[in-house]
Amino acid sequence: MRRLLFLPLLFACYTISTAQTLQENFKRNVSTLASDRFEGREASTPADTLSAKYIAAEFAKIKGVQLLGDNGLQQVVYKDKKSIQSASMKVGRKALTLNESFIPAVASTSGDFSGETIFLGFGAADDYTNQSLEGKYILVTEGVKKGTKSMSINDKALLAIKANAAGLIVIEDAKKVSKKDVTRPTLTPASDKSLFIAKVNSKVGAQLKKGASFTASVQTHMAEKHTHNVVARLNALKENNPDGKTVVIGAHYDHMGYEMIDGEKVICRGADDNASGIATIIEFARRYAQLVPAMQRDIIFIAFGAEEKGLKGSAYYASNPLDSLSNCVGMVNFDMTGRMRAKGITIRGLGSAHQAIPMFSLLPNKDALDIVWEMRGAGPTDYSSFYKKGVPAFSFSTRLHSDYHTPRDTEEEVNYEGMEMMFNYVTNLINRLVIETVQLTVKPDRQ
Ligand SMILES: [Zn+2]
Repeated sequence: MRRLLFLPLLFACYTISTAQTLQENFKRNVSTLASDRFEGREASTPADTLSAKYIAAEFAKIKGVQLLGDNGLQQVVYKDKKSIQSASMKVGRKALTLNESFIPAVASTSGDFSGETIFLGFGAADDYTNQSLEGKYILVTEGVKKGTKSMSINDKALLAIKANAAGLIVIEDAKKVSKKDVTRPTLTPASDKSLFIAKVNSKVGAQLKKGASFTASVQTHMAEKHTHNVVARLNALKENNPDGKTVVIGAHYDHMGYEMIDGEKVICRGADDNASGIATIIEFARRYAQLVPAMQRDIIFIAFGAEEKGLKGSAYYASNPLDSLSNCVGMVNFDMTGRMRAKGITIRGLGSAHQAIPMFSLLPNKDALDIVWEMRGAGPTDYSSFYKKGVPAFSFSTRLHSDYHTPRDTEEEVNYEGMEMMFNYVTNLINRLVIETVQLTVKPDRQ
């Protein structure tokens, strides 16, 4: 009798203490990665390397987990955003001074350009009516007609592309051109078409309007940058997994670094995005290190670099895996798991495997999480890099919020109880993959 009375009590105590430890561990890692020392973890900065080493050291503390690569680090090489390498421009015979009389837009195509221009007012959609501008250089003034919707140079360039123009020259109403609106390599959709894009000052603008011809040359380039993925492995017993099948559990560790606000450098800490995801995968490593005898598949844990630069780390890993992706039966990703509100979570990648819907519909949902299912295969974070290589892949998030990509994404705002609910929910999925060896077959994306 006595035993019966005490057992539930003991069990309750165990559960509470485990929960506290889990949340404490989440908090320790999130607050460390979001602290001043890590400077917002922008890819290819010293703080980026510091973050990667910190995460590798956290994995190394877990008994049974081995670091792959160079002490857990896989070198990642990626192309950075486009920038202008060199540019020159002449109007008539006179060479213009770069950044004074003219400035090319980063979105411009590389090449040599020459001709006369056709003036098209503000270059708004109306101005294109009944004009044949194919192969022409369009000259426009900055801004828009009073009372109409504002337009960036990019908006104007998209109209010029639509008209199959060869170039767009924007007159800035100033003696000296500014960098405003020309430093971002945007230009979608249809940006596979080439277009010369530059701004000129008011004096040059007046000459072009009068019919002066110009020549210009622009070279853009994308710098090669380096960062890391952190890769760690937890093996099942050889007899349980003779073929060396793997499950990848990943999350990106990088964030945005500093942002200039009112002339001051402010850290974007990325506590939710994505220190929370990293803290989650480290706890999965700790959890499964206790369950090795039950595991039927090895787990590879990856903290991806340079996600914010365009999924660079995960794309690099998917092309240069440290264990062949033909062994990989599934990928589980976490991106922003720290801001649960009203028990809401989003699960992406339902369309990545034929068995995904029946499998998820049988998963227990003990905390009654309010789940939004994204039915597409691919989506805007690292799991897509694996899906593109034929691996069924899912991603978990506690959803976007108004502090996303701002300095307000701080540790104080993280909901650790919510992180634990997410952790518990996904544990059931990982159990299916790692312990019960559910077979998934990849499904092509709908689009
Ligand atoms: Zn993210």
